Amino acid sequence: MSRILIAEDESRISSFIDKGLRAAGFTTLVVSSGTEALEHALAGDADLLVLDIGLPGIDGYEVMRRVRAAGAALPVIVLTARTSAEDTLASLEGGANDYMPKPFRFDELLARIRLRLADASRAVEPVLAVGGLELDLHTRRALVDGREVELSAREFSLAEELMRHAGRVLSREQLLSRVWGFDFDPGSNVVDVYVGYLRSKLGAGRIETVRGMGYRLR
Ligand code: CA
Repeated sequence: MSRILIAEDESRISSFIDKGLRAAGFTTLVVSSGTEALEHALAGDADLLVLDIGLPGIDGYEVMRRVRAAGAALPVIVLTARTSAEDTLASLEGGANDYMPKPFRFDELLARIRLRLADASRAVEPVLAVGGLELDLHTRRALVDGREVELSAREFSLAEELMRHAGRVLSREQLLSRVWGFDFDPGSNVVDVYVGYLRSKLGAGRIETVRGMGYRLR
């Protein structure tokens, strides 16, 4: 059974999540500081991390940054009271897989946990390779014609999704739901912005715009 690390300093919230997850059959570990969260995440003690942003010691953003810098791929679901678009983007850009604004219903959190664990277990192929592009899904390294390029967590996920469906058109809505994993404003241009970032890093000609439909990796 999957082990869930819960990093939350408000005991009322952590015990609510803890009880619910144990009742759903998960093994849980509750910590109340960023330092402890980081320690357990890096030690490989958990299959998924539920991470509050406002934590004493080092905050959730910093925990995520260090977890990703160490190459740990465990799914992270961020909890935060802050609901501004900037904080949401900062969490996701920092390597979170999903985002849960407080207050939330337990069943919503549970659904996201199950979804993210399922995604993680599907990611079995260690390396994706398409026409000179290579993504190593374990080390999170990206190579273009043998040369390493730095991709942010979100750019990496977008490249991964395009590569998994190389030669096929993916709509903005498909990319939003698969890469960002939650409901963005459908009018958001975040997909176009990130496709632009990827083009500048991977080569402008690789990602084709299919007018009125979406994007396709050649
Ligand atoms: Ca807090």
